[in-house]
Amino acid sequence: MDLSAVQARDNVWEMAQRQLDEVALLIGLNESLHGYLRVPKRVLEVSVPVRMDDGGFRMFTGYRVQHNMARGPGKGGIRFHPDVTLDEVKALAMWMTWKCALINIPFGGAKGGVICDPKHMSMQELENLTRRFTSEISIIIGPEKDIPAPDVYTTPKIMAWIMDTFSMQHGYSIPGVVTGKPVAIGGSLGRDKATARGCLYVVDEAMATLGKPVENARVAIQGFGNAGMYAAQLMAERGYRVVAVSDSHGGVANDKGLDVKQLIAHKFETGSVVGFTGGERADNRAILEYDCDVLVPAALEKVITRENAPRVRAQIVAEAANGPTMPEADDILFSRGIMVLPDILANAGGVTVSYFEWVQDLQANFWDEEEINEGLKRKMVRAFRETYEQARRHGVSMRKGAYCVAVSRVAEATKLRGLYP
Ligand code: NAD
Repeated sequence: MDLSAVQARDNVWEMAQRQLDEVALLIGLNESLHGYLRVPKRVLEVSVPVRMDDGGFRMFTGYRVQHNMARGPGKGGIRFHPDVTLDEVKALAMWMTWKCALINIPFGGAKGGVICDPKHMSMQELENLTRRFTSEISIIIGPEKDIPAPDVYTTPKIMAWIMDTFSMQHGYSIPGVVTGKPVAIGGSLGRDKATARGCLYVVDEAMATLGKPVENARVAIQGFGNAGMYAAQLMAERGYRVVAVSDSHGGVANDKGLDVKQLIAHKFETGSVVGFTGGERADNRAILEYDCDVLVPAALEKVITRENAPRVRAQIVAEAANGPTMPEADDILFSRGIMVLPDILANAGGVTVSYFEWVQDLQANFWDEEEINEGLKRKMVRAFRETYEQARRHGVSMRKGAYCVAVSRVAEATKLRGLYP
């Protein structure tokens, strides 16, 4: 799968369908099932009236799309962004189906979005928007039906409003309606670092598969937010040598290894990794071409392109970000023998711990962090091995291997359930 399509907004949905078509050929998917999986199960468009701070109200448009729910309730984030389109939400929902199937959690794929610009809305306006949107889509969401989560510009606080609105409508607390909540109202321990931790686990597996020792293996990371910063921290603790990192202001590098603990303190103090005295200033783009064993793009889409792919020096690229590799770049990296751990695998730690959060909410029984991390490791390692096995069997990239596993699982469940009525 290639989430770089997220930015190719004009044909994002066709692109998602094409990715399915390619894999359907590879695994010999039955034509009727292929047709079934090419389209979303359900699309809901809602008009959302929101009272604004000036006393008037404004109309917003929102969507919730459920792509396939043969394996369980829908799962997928809600995005608040001015560029949200129905096609984008449909594509993201389809990709969630594959991500949940690959990691083998009992969810289908869903996604939601509201066309709005949260950067230009007050907290009160955002709360009003969230509550009314939740109310409008409440006819199709719920712990047994479809469970939203955070995505671009939606936060744990927004998840708390969703949980509260849904609960108020039903007259009792229903924490399992949404994941990514604050721990105080039924969120899960370990959710904050889950994406980075999952990424570490699959990188460890890739290193072992390639026969490379972890100790002092050189790592470069683009992006120093939730995914990138925690990836740096966890990888350094594990024995990797983090040699270069960047954020939106620029990069910093040290061939002997950056002191990640001090670097994080510097980032919290100044808001950037730039100016850290334990390394040299590095050009942001150069991070992707840095001399390293493992490259972790953890910021933006479409950063590895046809132009710079021939200059990537890592042997492993772990896509903590969604869609960092353009399709043409993907082919170049594959032909150069570089192992790309695709986003649906490398950043699946987040949705995996979201699944644990949902299970804990349903049971009203909360686990300690160790238990969560162990469960996460088991799921990530198994998904890596299954992906690798399929990639080898078909002689294709890890991305296509991951698709083979995921699409086969969803097709099997869809077929077993049969058609109603
Ligand atoms: P974030 O906002 O916490 O961090 C983003 C980081 O990228 C920031 O450090 C920012 O400075 C940096 N950045 C922005 N522009 C940059 C540039 N031009 N060059 C270098 N760095 C730049 O976001 P996040 O949650 O860490 O998400 C990052 C990526 O990971 C996104 O693609 C997201 O979809 C993906 N992802 C995140 C999670 C999660 O649980 N956080 C889960 C799955 C996927």
